[in-house]
Amino acid sequence: MSDEKKELTRGEQLRKSLVYERKNGYDLLAPGELEAIDSYCAGYKDFLDGGKTERECVERAVALAEQAGFRPFNRGDALKAGDKVYRVNRDKAVILAVIGKKSLAEGANIGAAHIDSPRLDLKPNPLYETDDLAFLKTHYFGGVRKYQWVTIPLELHGVVALKSGQVVRVSVGNGEGDPLFTIDDLLPHLGAEQNKKPLGEAITGENLNILVGSRPLADDEGKDRVKVAVLELLNRKYGIVEADFLSAELCAVPAFKASDIGFDRSMIGAYGHDDRVCGYAALAALLQLSAPERTAVCMLADKEETGSNGVTGMKSAHFDTFMEDLCEAQGVALRACFEKSFCLSADVTAAFDPNFPDVFEKRNSSFVNYGMGVCKYTGSRGKSGASDAAAELVGQVRRVLDGAGVVWQMAELGKVDAGGGGTVAAFMAERNIDTLDAGVPVLSMHAPFETVGKLDCYMTFKGMKAVFENM
Ligand code: MN
Ligand code: MN
Repeated sequence: MSDEKKELTRGEQLRKSLVYERKNGYDLLAPGELEAIDSYCAGYKDFLDGGKTERECVERAVALAEQAGFRPFNRGDALKAGDKVYRVNRDKAVILAVIGKKSLAEGANIGAAHIDSPRLDLKPNPLYETDDLAFLKTHYFGGVRKYQWVTIPLELHGVVALKSGQVVRVSVGNGEGDPLFTIDDLLPHLGAEQNKKPLGEAITGENLNILVGSRPLADDEGKDRVKVAVLELLNRKYGIVEADFLSAELCAVPAFKASDIGFDRSMIGAYGHDDRVCGYAALAALLQLSAPERTAVCMLADKEETGSNGVTGMKSAHFDTFMEDLCEAQGVALRACFEKSFCLSADVTAAFDPNFPDVFEKRNSSFVNYGMGVCKYTGSRGKSGASDAAAELVGQVRRVLDGAGVVWQMAELGKVDAGGGGTVAAFMAERNIDTLDAGVPVLSMHAPFETVGKLDCYMTFKGMKAVFENM
């Protein structure tokens, strides 16, 4: 036995060749990838800070796409390989495509993510005054743990559609010197009774009222002087009156900037990783394509957090219409394209949290820094609501990811019967499109400040690119 090369024992050989061992992604990086991770994540943080709502994400995505040579696609436009096109759906969702060398009759490679995130929407009649303070009533959007949304700084984003037809954009809180908003909570000194309530009941939906003013209208003896003073400010800045809230979409979102987390800066804390972290990965990967073999499509959908319903959700025929318009340009039937297409449903999954190990099953959880988390199925209880990708499809994706040097892991979202969740996967599969779930593992998912590993963000981008190029 030489000193340099120790021969493996039979047991060691067997373990090496037979046993599946998951490794921390940092032990698997190729030369130069540490730098690639950091520069990719800098772009992602920028995207997050500029996109706090689906409307803002659409604007950012279109701006990035136009810089990369994309143009709006109109029905009837001719298409050739390498063409880069996009179509916006009512300012809240966008589909982008790079036309492949092969006909759409050979199918498309689709990356579908969502750009809506849990938040607090204003009710149609939001503004009121009580006890000399002005508040806005909210109705939460998506799955939120209500106790997490009190005593944090909030911004207000959205649009107000005036009776005249004019649409006014509102964005307060992310500009230099802007005021912020907040929701108050009890002080511990008086919180004894509230402390006895279960976590899910201590703060109710109707408690989520946003504090927006306290200075009464001067030289006036009428009622609601604080509210009227707030209305005067709104009118001066936006030209709106109280009735205009009836036709508005205003969202309160956390006023946190995307920040590096940890002494080693290895993670990112931010609002809205779910699912902008995958949306950005799909977008960034698409923007780097020139002329892929099959047409590559990036779908950034709205309304996933409330079930993918509505005209801008993944169930909307807007997607089919766009794809059909592309197909028609090549004389291909949509159904022929769909049956050969592949969709990576790019959405976040739950990262194993050592502070709450009881809800996870360690062998089948995703871990921070172990790469893109692939989920054969999602759903809850007996896989209810899952599209459950076929073994053959998972095998094909495995080959593509490994071939491109993507660090990835296979995972379920939590223990059996601990809960569960869904993505847009089921709605793509319903269209007769082979679909597999994959995305970035997230700590504190749906919280106002969620955390992800930078390595996993980058590997999801790399995985998305491999899918666009090689599926
Ligand atoms: Mn999601
Ligand atoms: Mn979600």
